[in-house]
Amino acid sequence: MTENREKSIIRTSIIGIIANIVLVAFKAAVGIFANSIAIILDAVNNLSDALSSVITIVGTKLSSKAPDKKHPYGYGRIEYITSVVIAVIVLLAGVTSLRESAGKILEPQQTDYSVPSVIVIAAAIVAKIIIGRYFKAQGDKLNSQSLTASGADALFDAVLSGGTLVTAIVSMIWGLSLEGIMGVLISIIIIKSGIEILTDTLNSIIGVRADKELTDKLKEKINSFEGVKGTYDLTLHNYGPSKIMGTAHVEVADSMSAKEIHRLTRSISGAVFVEFGIVLTLGIYASNNTGKFAEIKKTAEQITASYDEILQMHGFYADDDTKSVSFDIIVDFDADAIEVRDSIKKEISEKFPEFKFDIILDSDYSD
Ligand SMILES: [Zn+2]
Repeated sequence: MTENREKSIIRTSIIGIIANIVLVAFKAAVGIFANSIAIILDAVNNLSDALSSVITIVGTKLSSKAPDKKHPYGYGRIEYITSVVIAVIVLLAGVTSLRESAGKILEPQQTDYSVPSVIVIAAAIVAKIIIGRYFKAQGDKLNSQSLTASGADALFDAVLSGGTLVTAIVSMIWGLSLEGIMGVLISIIIIKSGIEILTDTLNSIIGVRADKELTDKLKEKINSFEGVKGTYDLTLHNYGPSKIMGTAHVEVADSMSAKEIHRLTRSISGAVFVEFGIVLTLGIYASNNTGKFAEIKKTAEQITASYDEILQMHGFYADDDTKSVSFDIIVDFDADAIEVRDSIKKEISEKFPEFKFDIILDSDYSD
Protein backbone atom coordinates (compact mmCIF):
# COMPACT_ATOMS: atom_id res chain seq x y z
CA MET A 1 0.00 0.00 0.00
CA THR A 2 2.75 2.43 0.98
CA GLU A 3 4.74 1.61 -2.13
CA ASN A 4 1.71 2.18 -4.33
CA ARG A 5 1.02 5.45 -2.58
CA GLU A 6 4.56 6.56 -3.23
CA LYS A 7 4.40 5.57 -6.89
CA SER A 8 1.04 7.28 -7.39
CA ILE A 9 2.25 10.51 -5.77
CA ILE A 10 5.33 10.52 -7.96
CA ARG A 11 3.39 9.77 -11.14
CA THR A 12 0.87 12.52 -10.38
CA SER A 13 3.68 14.96 -9.67
CA ILE A 14 5.50 14.15 -12.92
CA ILE A 15 2.31 14.75 -14.90
CA GLY A 16 1.97 18.06 -13.05
CA ILE A 17 5.53 19.10 -13.81
CA ILE A 18 5.21 18.37 -17.53
CA ALA A 19 1.85 20.11 -17.82
CA ASN A 20 3.07 23.16 -15.93
CA ILE A 21 6.29 23.47 -17.91
CA VAL A 22 4.28 23.41 -21.16
CA LEU A 23 2.04 26.14 -19.73
CA VAL A 24 5.04 28.18 -18.57
CA ALA A 25 6.58 28.04 -22.08
CA PHE A 26 3.37 29.18 -23.79
CA LYS A 27 2.59 31.90 -21.26
CA ALA A 28 6.15 33.22 -21.16
CA ALA A 29 6.12 33.50 -24.97
CA VAL A 30 2.75 35.27 -24.98
CA GLY A 31 3.78 37.51 -22.08
CA ILE A 32 7.01 38.58 -23.75
CA PHE A 33 5.39 39.21 -27.15
CA ALA A 34 2.52 41.15 -25.61
CA ASN A 35 4.86 42.92 -23.16
CA SER A 36 2.50 41.94 -20.34
CA ILE A 37 3.74 41.75 -16.75
CA ALA A 38 0.48 40.06 -15.69
CA ILE A 39 1.00 37.16 -18.08
CA ILE A 40 4.71 36.87 -17.29
CA LEU A 41 3.83 36.69 -13.58
CA ASP A 42 1.23 34.08 -14.38
CA ALA A 43 4.02 32.06 -16.03
CA VAL A 44 6.29 32.58 -13.00
CA ASN A 45 3.48 31.35 -10.80
CA ASN A 46 3.15 28.17 -12.90
CA LEU A 47 6.90 27.70 -12.74
CA SER A 48 6.69 27.71 -8.93
CA ASP A 49 4.03 25.00 -9.22
CA ALA A 50 6.34 22.85 -11.32
CA LEU A 51 9.06 23.42 -8.73
CA SER A 52 6.63 22.41 -5.96
CA SER A 53 5.99 19.15 -7.79
CA VAL A 54 9.71 18.45 -8.04
CA ILE A 55 10.02 19.00 -4.31
CA THR A 56 6.99 16.77 -3.66
CA ILE A 57 8.75 13.95 -5.52
CA VAL A 58 11.99 14.47 -3.63
CA GLY A 59 10.04 14.55 -0.35
CA THR A 60 8.11 11.39 -1.13
CA LYS A 61 11.30 9.57 -2.13
CA LEU A 62 13.14 10.65 1.00
CA SER A 63 10.21 9.95 3.32
CA SER A 64 9.72 6.41 2.05
CA LYS A 65 13.17 5.38 3.25
CA ALA A 66 12.94 2.32 5.46
CA PRO A 67 13.24 2.83 9.24
CA ASP A 68 16.69 2.30 10.75
CA LYS A 69 18.23 2.22 14.19
CA LYS A 70 18.58 5.98 14.44
CA HIS A 71 15.12 6.71 12.97
CA PRO A 72 13.02 3.72 14.06
CA TYR A 73 9.75 5.50 13.19
CA GLY A 74 10.80 5.93 9.57
CA TYR A 75 11.17 9.14 7.61
CA GLY A 76 7.51 9.96 6.91
CA ARG A 77 7.69 13.38 8.56
CA ILE A 78 10.04 14.58 5.82
CA GLU A 79 6.87 15.25 3.82
CA TYR A 80 5.99 18.01 6.26
CA ILE A 81 9.39 19.58 5.78
CA THR A 82 9.03 19.54 1.99
CA SER A 83 5.59 21.14 2.33
CA VAL A 84 7.23 23.95 4.33
CA VAL A 85 9.80 24.39 1.55
CA ILE A 86 6.99 24.60 -1.03
CA ALA A 87 5.20 27.20 1.11
CA VAL A 88 8.35 29.31 1.35
CA ILE A 89 8.85 29.18 -2.45
CA VAL A 90 5.24 30.20 -3.02
CA LEU A 91 5.61 33.06 -0.50
CA LEU A 92 8.81 34.28 -2.13
CA ALA A 93 7.20 34.21 -5.59
CA GLY A 94 4.27 36.19 -4.17
CA VAL A 95 6.36 38.88 -2.52
CA THR A 96 8.59 39.30 -5.58
CA SER A 97 5.67 39.63 -7.96
CA LEU A 98 3.92 42.05 -5.61
CA ARG A 99 6.92 44.36 -5.79
CA GLU A 100 7.08 44.10 -9.58
CA SER A 101 3.37 44.72 -10.07
CA ALA A 102 3.20 47.68 -7.70
CA GLY A 103 5.88 49.31 -9.88
CA LYS A 104 3.73 48.71 -12.97
CA ILE A 105 0.78 50.53 -11.41
CA LEU A 106 2.97 53.61 -10.96
CA GLU A 107 4.55 53.34 -14.42
CA PRO A 108 2.19 51.48 -16.77
CA GLN A 109 3.74 50.00 -19.90
CA GLN A 110 2.29 49.70 -23.34
CA THR A 111 0.97 46.19 -24.01
CA ASP A 112 0.30 44.62 -27.38
CA TYR A 113 -2.12 41.69 -27.32
CA SER A 114 -3.18 39.69 -30.36
CA VAL A 115 -6.07 37.29 -30.91
CA PRO A 116 -3.81 34.18 -30.90
CA SER A 117 -2.32 35.26 -27.55
CA VAL A 118 -5.82 35.55 -26.08
CA ILE A 119 -6.63 32.06 -27.34
CA VAL A 120 -3.46 30.67 -25.73
CA ILE A 121 -4.38 32.30 -22.41
CA ALA A 122 -7.89 30.85 -22.58
CA ALA A 123 -6.58 27.36 -23.37
CA ALA A 124 -4.14 27.62 -20.48
CA ILE A 125 -7.02 28.34 -18.09
CA VAL A 126 -8.84 25.19 -19.13
CA ALA A 127 -5.62 23.17 -18.79
CA LYS A 128 -5.02 24.57 -15.32
CA ILE A 129 -8.51 23.66 -14.13
CA ILE A 130 -8.02 20.08 -15.33
CA ILE A 131 -4.63 19.85 -13.59
CA GLY A 132 -6.06 21.31 -10.38
CA ARG A 133 -8.98 18.89 -10.20
CA TYR A 134 -6.73 15.93 -10.95
CA PHE A 135 -4.23 16.88 -8.23
CA LYS A 136 -6.94 17.49 -5.66
CA ALA A 137 -8.60 14.13 -6.36
CA GLN A 138 -5.29 12.28 -6.21
CA GLY A 139 -4.22 14.14 -3.07
CA ASP A 140 -7.44 13.24 -1.24
CA LYS A 141 -7.24 9.65 -2.43
CA LEU A 142 -3.59 9.20 -1.41
CA ASN A 143 -3.83 11.36 1.73
CA SER A 144 -0.99 13.56 0.50
CA GLN A 145 -1.05 17.10 1.83
CA SER A 146 1.46 18.22 -0.77
CA LEU A 147 -0.68 17.00 -3.66
CA THR A 148 -3.91 18.44 -2.27
CA ALA A 149 -2.13 21.74 -1.67
CA SER A 150 -0.82 21.74 -5.24
CA GLY A 151 -4.32 21.00 -6.52
CA ALA A 152 -5.88 23.87 -4.60
CA ASP A 153 -3.08 26.09 -5.81
CA ALA A 154 -3.70 25.13 -9.46
CA LEU A 155 -7.41 25.94 -9.17
CA PHE A 156 -6.52 29.33 -7.72
CA ASP A 157 -4.17 29.82 -10.64
CA ALA A 158 -6.95 29.14 -13.11
CA VAL A 159 -8.88 32.01 -11.52
CA LEU A 160 -5.80 34.22 -11.75
CA SER A 161 -5.29 33.34 -15.42
CA GLY A 162 -8.94 34.24 -15.90
CA GLY A 163 -7.99 37.68 -14.62
CA THR A 164 -5.17 37.98 -17.13
CA LEU A 165 -7.61 37.02 -19.86
CA VAL A 166 -9.91 39.85 -18.79
CA THR A 167 -6.91 42.19 -18.67
CA ALA A 168 -5.95 41.21 -22.22
CA ILE A 169 -9.47 41.65 -23.59
CA VAL A 170 -9.95 45.01 -21.86
CA SER A 171 -6.62 46.16 -23.26
CA MET A 172 -7.49 45.01 -26.80
CA ILE A 173 -10.97 46.52 -26.89
CA TRP A 174 -10.64 49.70 -24.83
CA GLY A 175 -6.87 50.17 -24.78
CA LEU A 176 -7.00 50.27 -20.97
CA SER A 177 -4.11 48.80 -18.94
CA LEU A 178 -5.10 46.81 -15.87
CA GLU A 179 -1.69 45.09 -15.83
CA GLY A 180 -0.39 46.48 -12.54
CA ILE A 181 -3.64 45.99 -10.67
CA MET A 182 -4.00 42.46 -12.02
CA GLY A 183 -0.38 41.74 -11.03
CA VAL A 184 -0.98 42.95 -7.48
CA LEU A 185 -4.09 40.77 -7.27
CA ILE A 186 -2.17 37.72 -8.50
CA SER A 187 0.59 38.42 -5.97
CA ILE A 188 -1.80 38.72 -3.05
CA ILE A 189 -3.43 35.42 -3.93
CA ILE A 190 -0.04 33.72 -4.30
CA ILE A 191 0.98 35.02 -0.86
CA LYS A 192 -2.33 33.88 0.63
CA SER A 193 -1.95 30.34 -0.68
CA GLY A 194 1.64 30.24 0.62
CA ILE A 195 0.44 31.21 4.09
CA GLU A 196 -2.28 28.55 3.97
CA ILE A 197 0.10 25.74 3.00
CA LEU A 198 2.47 26.88 5.74
CA THR A 199 -0.27 26.99 8.40
CA ASP A 200 -1.63 23.54 7.52
CA THR A 201 1.79 21.98 7.55
CA LEU A 202 2.89 23.64 10.77
CA ASN A 203 -0.33 22.39 12.40
CA SER A 204 0.51 18.84 11.32
CA ILE A 205 3.99 19.23 12.78
CA ILE A 206 2.65 20.58 16.08
CA GLY A 207 0.10 17.75 16.22
CA VAL A 208 -3.62 18.03 15.60
CA ARG A 209 -6.67 16.27 16.98
CA ALA A 210 -7.19 12.90 15.29
CA ASP A 211 -9.86 12.76 12.62
CA LYS A 212 -13.21 12.01 14.29
CA GLU A 213 -14.31 9.70 11.50
CA LEU A 214 -11.20 7.57 12.01
CA THR A 215 -11.42 7.46 15.82
CA ASP A 216 -15.12 6.56 15.65
CA LYS A 217 -14.42 3.67 13.29
CA LEU A 218 -11.48 2.48 15.39
CA LYS A 219 -13.50 2.49 18.62
CA GLU A 220 -16.35 0.72 16.90
CA LYS A 221 -13.94 -1.97 15.73
CA ILE A 222 -12.40 -2.46 19.19
CA ASN A 223 -15.79 -2.49 20.90
CA SER A 224 -16.96 -5.22 18.54
CA PHE A 225 -14.66 -7.75 20.25
CA GLU A 226 -16.35 -10.01 22.75
CA GLY A 227 -15.41 -9.10 26.31
CA VAL A 228 -14.68 -5.44 25.56
CA LYS A 229 -16.94 -3.23 27.67
CA GLY A 230 -15.65 0.05 26.35
CA THR A 231 -12.73 1.80 24.65
CA TYR A 232 -11.25 4.95 26.16
CA ASP A 233 -8.31 7.33 26.03
CA LEU A 234 -7.56 6.71 22.38
CA THR A 235 -4.43 8.55 21.27
CA LEU A 236 -2.95 8.58 17.76
CA HIS A 237 0.48 9.82 16.74
CA ASN A 238 1.83 9.93 13.27
CA TYR A 239 5.23 9.81 11.70
CA GLY A 240 4.20 11.16 8.33
CA PRO A 241 0.71 10.91 6.84
CA SER A 242 0.75 7.14 6.35
CA LYS A 243 2.42 5.89 9.53
CA ILE A 244 0.19 6.02 12.60
CA MET A 245 0.74 4.61 16.09
CA GLY A 246 -1.51 4.84 19.08
CA THR A 247 -2.71 3.67 22.45
CA ALA A 248 -6.12 2.93 23.93
CA HIS A 249 -7.60 1.62 27.13
CA VAL A 250 -10.12 -1.19 26.96
CA GLU A 251 -12.42 -2.08 29.80
CA VAL A 252 -12.88 -5.78 30.60
CA ALA A 253 -14.40 -7.76 33.47
CA ASP A 254 -12.01 -8.09 36.42
CA SER A 255 -12.56 -11.83 36.36
CA MET A 256 -10.65 -12.20 33.12
CA SER A 257 -7.39 -14.11 33.34
CA ALA A 258 -4.07 -12.98 31.93
CA LYS A 259 -4.45 -15.69 29.33
CA GLU A 260 -7.81 -14.34 28.19
CA ILE A 261 -6.60 -10.75 28.20
CA HIS A 262 -3.56 -11.78 26.21
CA ARG A 263 -5.71 -13.47 23.60
CA LEU A 264 -8.11 -10.51 23.41
CA THR A 265 -5.52 -7.74 23.14
CA ARG A 266 -3.47 -9.64 20.56
CA SER A 267 -6.57 -10.12 18.42
CA ILE A 268 -7.56 -6.45 18.68
CA SER A 269 -4.08 -5.15 17.84
CA GLY A 270 -3.82 -7.55 14.91
CA ALA A 271 -7.20 -6.63 13.49
CA VAL A 272 -6.58 -2.89 13.91
CA PHE A 273 -3.28 -3.17 12.08
CA VAL A 274 -4.76 -5.17 9.21
CA GLU A 275 -7.78 -2.89 8.79
CA PHE A 276 -6.33 0.55 9.58
CA GLY A 277 -2.54 0.11 9.30
CA ILE A 278 -2.30 1.50 12.83
CA VAL A 279 0.08 0.07 15.43
CA LEU A 280 -2.10 0.13 18.55
CA THR A 281 -0.93 -0.58 22.09
CA LEU A 282 -3.65 -1.46 24.58
CA GLY A 283 -3.98 -0.88 28.29
CA ILE A 284 -6.54 -2.68 30.42
CA TYR A 285 -9.18 -1.29 32.77
CA ALA A 286 -10.87 -3.83 35.03
CA SER A 287 -14.52 -3.37 35.83
CA ASN A 288 -16.67 -4.88 38.55
CA ASN A 289 -20.17 -3.63 38.52
CA THR A 290 -21.37 -6.10 41.10
CA GLY A 291 -24.20 -4.83 43.25
CA LYS A 292 -22.09 -3.84 46.21
CA PHE A 293 -20.42 -0.88 44.50
CA ALA A 294 -23.29 0.07 42.23
CA GLU A 295 -24.29 2.88 44.56
CA ILE A 296 -20.81 4.39 44.60
CA LYS A 297 -20.61 4.19 40.82
CA LYS A 298 -24.01 5.79 40.40
CA THR A 299 -23.06 8.61 42.76
CA ALA A 300 -19.78 9.17 40.92
CA GLU A 301 -21.67 9.34 37.65
CA GLN A 302 -24.20 11.79 39.06
CA ILE A 303 -21.54 14.07 40.51
CA THR A 304 -19.42 14.11 37.35
CA ALA A 305 -22.51 14.68 35.19
CA SER A 306 -23.29 17.80 37.22
CA TYR A 307 -20.08 19.43 35.97
CA ASP A 308 -20.44 20.87 32.47
CA GLU A 309 -16.67 20.92 32.02
CA ILE A 310 -16.39 17.14 32.43
CA LEU A 311 -16.55 15.57 29.00
CA GLN A 312 -16.38 11.95 30.07
CA MET A 313 -16.07 9.66 33.08
CA HIS A 314 -14.81 6.11 32.67
CA GLY A 315 -12.72 3.32 34.17
CA PHE A 316 -14.66 3.05 37.44
CA TYR A 317 -13.17 0.39 39.68
CA ALA A 318 -13.75 -0.36 43.34
CA ASP A 319 -11.36 -2.55 45.29
CA ASP A 320 -12.90 -3.97 48.43
CA ASP A 321 -9.59 -5.32 49.75
CA THR A 322 -7.87 -1.96 49.84
CA LYS A 323 -11.09 0.06 50.26
CA SER A 324 -10.13 2.19 47.31
CA VAL A 325 -12.13 3.46 44.36
CA SER A 326 -10.67 4.86 41.18
CA PHE A 327 -12.10 6.40 38.03
CA ASP A 328 -10.95 8.70 35.25
CA ILE A 329 -12.39 11.99 34.12
CA ILE A 330 -11.75 14.01 30.98
CA VAL A 331 -11.99 17.73 31.63
CA ASP A 332 -12.43 20.31 28.90
CA PHE A 333 -9.15 22.04 27.99
CA ASP A 334 -10.70 25.41 28.87
CA ALA A 335 -11.41 24.45 32.47
CA ASP A 336 -9.05 24.12 35.43
CA ALA A 337 -8.83 20.32 35.55
CA ILE A 338 -7.11 20.08 38.93
CA GLU A 339 -9.68 22.30 40.57
CA VAL A 340 -12.52 20.22 39.08
CA ARG A 341 -10.92 16.97 40.21
CA ASP A 342 -10.33 18.17 43.77
CA SER A 343 -13.87 19.42 44.04
CA ILE A 344 -15.32 16.07 42.90
CA LYS A 345 -13.01 14.18 45.19
CA LYS A 346 -14.19 16.22 48.15
CA GLU A 347 -17.85 15.72 47.25
CA ILE A 348 -17.69 11.97 46.84
CA SER A 349 -15.36 11.37 49.80
CA GLU A 350 -17.90 13.00 52.07
CA LYS A 351 -20.58 10.55 50.90
CA PHE A 352 -18.43 7.44 51.26
CA PRO A 353 -15.85 8.22 53.94
CA GLU A 354 -14.85 4.56 54.35
CA PHE A 355 -13.33 4.55 50.82
CA LYS A 356 -10.24 6.23 49.47
CA PHE A 357 -10.89 7.92 46.11
CA ASP A 358 -8.36 8.18 43.36
CA ILE A 359 -9.54 10.30 40.43
CA ILE A 360 -7.30 10.30 37.39
CA LEU A 361 -7.22 13.20 34.94
CA ASP A 362 -7.17 12.06 31.33
CA SER A 363 -6.54 14.38 28.41
CA ASP A 364 -9.12 15.11 25.74
CA TYR A 365 -6.96 13.63 22.97
CA SER A 366 -9.72 12.38 20.69
CA ASP A 367 -13.48 12.32 20.32
ZN1 LIG B 1 -8.76 6.78 31.25
